[in-house]
Amino acid sequence: MPVTEAGRSASGPLPPAACGRIDAALARPAAQQPQWPDRRAVAEVRDVLATAPPITTPVEVDRLRRRLAAVARGDAFLAQGGDCAETFASNTPEHLGANLRTLLRMSTVLGHAARVPVVTVGRIAGQFAKPRSKTTDAHGLPVYRGDIVNAAAPDPRLRVPDPRRMLRAYANSRAAMRLIRMLRRAGAAEIFASHECLLLDYERTMLRPAGSDGRLYNLSSHFLWIGERTRELDGAHIAFAELMANPIGIKLGPTATAQQVLEYLERLDPHREPGRVTLITRLGHQHVEQVLPGLVETVAASGHQVVWQCDPMHGNTHESTTGFKTRHFDRILAEVRSFFAVHRALGTYPGGIHLELTGEPVTECVGGALHVSDHDLRGCYSTACDPRLNHRQVMELAVRIARILRS
Ligand code: PEP
Ligand code: MN
Repeated sequence: MPVTEAGRSASGPLPPAACGRIDAALARPAAQQPQWPDRRAVAEVRDVLATAPPITTPVEVDRLRRRLAAVARGDAFLAQGGDCAETFASNTPEHLGANLRTLLRMSTVLGHAARVPVVTVGRIAGQFAKPRSKTTDAHGLPVYRGDIVNAAAPDPRLRVPDPRRMLRAYANSRAAMRLIRMLRRAGAAEIFASHECLLLDYERTMLRPAGSDGRLYNLSSHFLWIGERTRELDGAHIAFAELMANPIGIKLGPTATAQQVLEYLERLDPHREPGRVTLITRLGHQHVEQVLPGLVETVAASGHQVVWQCDPMHGNTHESTTGFKTRHFDRILAEVRSFFAVHRALGTYPGGIHLELTGEPVTECVGGALHVSDHDLRGCYSTACDPRLNHRQVMELAVRIARILRS
């Protein structure tokens, strides 16, 4: 067994060849990782997680692979959403239930309109790690990187990255996944889990070989995506994703190039599996018509069958006059409209939508029929990171998207 810097086995029960491949992938530069104060404590946590029962199963992941293949072919629609950042404190049946109800109601509305099955995926049961654009916050403290790393409270001691939080994230994810399975047995629709594949010291511990060919499944979730800030072609995240059998998303911001996208597809989809890769565009409403056609045309010409998904949230964030990080409903809708218009014009399939949402009556995004104003934001602003659409705003957006789907 190869050993890590702390002299421990790198990946628990994995075969030596797999350990070597994982170590090689993770030896590349990894953006957005915490500076753990004590690497030995990280190795201890990793050893515990590497032999713990994982969150999902290969059978479930394979089922999602089949569902996303249908989306890529244009025979289904992908509805994904949930908190920007889940927290341990909000990992309650009430909060999870509210978010899932909102997500499922959106799926129902979209399914009726699209007249195809909807694949429902939550940002849930593990969305605990956050990439940040700055390393310090407004108080000059080390930035909050999600509950899996440190605490949001503005206390210097609690902002020190604590590897034991990975154990709490694991336990919280298991509990959330149990609730999702219970809802399923109680007759709710099929729901898959997803989160950003960001914190590599955690993600690597959930790799398990499965199937006759022993492919590695990342059983921390069903679907994982690589974020806009960690998609470097020679970086650790893309190399790590290459090892995983799971379906993989890549967020694409306005600076993404057609050449980059082709390289992602060559690396991540060498066998040309429909739905293996979901390209999640988050361009900003004003950039879609300029940037998206080139990307879509290049991918279409390459023959890779991807899922095109629109994240109308992350390119449309601004600061309100009252000092809150917010997003305007009209800009979110504008990005969605342009996304559908571009795909229609090119004859490609707009496969899905990716939202930050909650079933709770928060006031985090402005606009919509509720006319949430800059002043209203202070009423109920409770996100741990980015502003989410509340239930009414989600349903309003779903109805607008349904109209587009029918037209
Ligand atoms: C997110 O989805 O919460 C996120 C950080 O997105 P992006 O990587 O697109 O900025
Ligand atoms: Mn976010």
